[in-house]
Amino acid sequence: MPVDFELTREQEDVRSTVREFAEKYVAPRVVEFEERQQVAPEIIREMARLGLFGVVFPEEYGGLGLDPVTAGVVLEELVRADLTFSLAVAYLVHTSWGYVAYKYGSEEFRENLIKRAAAGDLWIGIATTEPGAGSDLVGITTTARRDGDGYVISGEKAYISGVKEARERGVWFPDGGGHVTLAYTDKTKLHRGMSLFFVPLTDPNVSVRLEKEFGRKGWSFGSFVLNDVRIPESYRIGEEGRGFYIAMEGFDHARAYIALACAVGGKRAIELAAEYAKQRRAFGEPVASFQGVQFQLADNWARLEAAHALAYKALWALKMEQEGRIGRFEVTKIAAAAKLFAVQAAKAAIDDALRWFGAYGYTEENPVALALKAVKSYDWAEGSLDIMRLIVAREVLGREYIARRRQ
Ligand SMILES: Cc1cc2nc3c(=O)[nH]c(=O)nc-3n(C[C@H](O)[C@H](O)[C@H](O)COP(=O)(O)OP(=O)(O)OC[C@H]3O[C@@H](n4cnc5c(N)ncnc54)[C@H](O)[C@@H]3O)c2cc1C
Repeated sequence: MPVDFELTREQEDVRSTVREFAEKYVAPRVVEFEERQQVAPEIIREMARLGLFGVVFPEEYGGLGLDPVTAGVVLEELVRADLTFSLAVAYLVHTSWGYVAYKYGSEEFRENLIKRAAAGDLWIGIATTEPGAGSDLVGITTTARRDGDGYVISGEKAYISGVKEARERGVWFPDGGGHVTLAYTDKTKLHRGMSLFFVPLTDPNVSVRLEKEFGRKGWSFGSFVLNDVRIPESYRIGEEGRGFYIAMEGFDHARAYIALACAVGGKRAIELAAEYAKQRRAFGEPVASFQGVQFQLADNWARLEAAHALAYKALWALKMEQEGRIGRFEVTKIAAAAKLFAVQAAKAAIDDALRWFGAYGYTEENPVALALKAVKSYDWAEGSLDIMRLIVAREVLGREYIARRRQ
């Protein structure tokens, strides 16, 4: 009986703990996240107390030592309570990129930073995108040059999640945070000349600028300039020249979690809209009794069930990879397919569900309206849908069919 959708006893316990927290503390404050453009710091502190920023880190570094599937169970509960996806971003970015930083970080880095990240004292984000390069990372211009026993990093990163929360010490996280940052150590080698570094955003030589977000306003998004930021060698994540490849691994994690967040967020939107449509009457009938609504509900639900299963397959693939039972590129293909499918399924479902609310759907008090704006971010965040298509096609057709870059 190899295929099994049942959760283990431990996963059920994790689910009920997080659900209790999310229903009690998160759900009542979600509209406030969007209005105040921030998640209440006490919610983040409570998540830290529950160990939710340490889910995937090994116990020897203060984490819970759980696998990506169980980390997905936590994410489901955060999304169900918060359809602005602000907590989803706070959690999934840290969980994905923190794991990669742990996996490739030096022992010194693990002792100093991963332990703090696992305790929820330090948030870990990702910074690959720049003003002039997003999908095509060869175009980045940030550089890291060796200087004595460390590196000096210069450049600019743009459209980066969590810059405000990482910048401010002692508000959301006691030590603020930093970003796993992609930079050239040897530009002549293109992809093979890139390396990854942890850059604390609390450094005085980093300046941050916030963007006005379209949605998911509770977790910030903006750019930062690195003005000769000096970091120790122990902040390099992985070997010099391996940064691009390690970043691709981090994207697999983030895409699998995003797929799950979208599937669950879409289902939750349908549940909320269906409750409303059962109460609301038009032409003497509950809106839910109209076949037009029912058929939309069924088509969307079917797609979301498929997206949900595919997202868990991607998280399972990450676990299999950790156990050495499945190859890297297979994981990349499944994670890209999961993100591609789930984002589209969620956008369509949330858009339809919002219509059942009538004009009430066009207010900022309606969590489903906030969800529609939030899922739109996943057209791009952690890799655009077009790039997901290119990855799936590349893995199915073979690498000889990759379009060559024009110089
Ligand atoms: C809400 C949000 C949060 C984000 N958070 C982060 C973060 O924390 N860290 C970070 O590093 N980045 C972050 N990003 C940036 C995100 O990773 C980029 O937006 C994404 O990689 C696309 O890059 P770009 O925006 O530069 O678009 P471009 O690369 O300029 O692409 C523009 C358009 O062209 C399409 N396109 C590009 N190349 C091809 C191709 N070969 N074939 C077909 N179509 C193509 C793209 O799909 C897109 O539609 C975030 C973005 C958003 C919206």
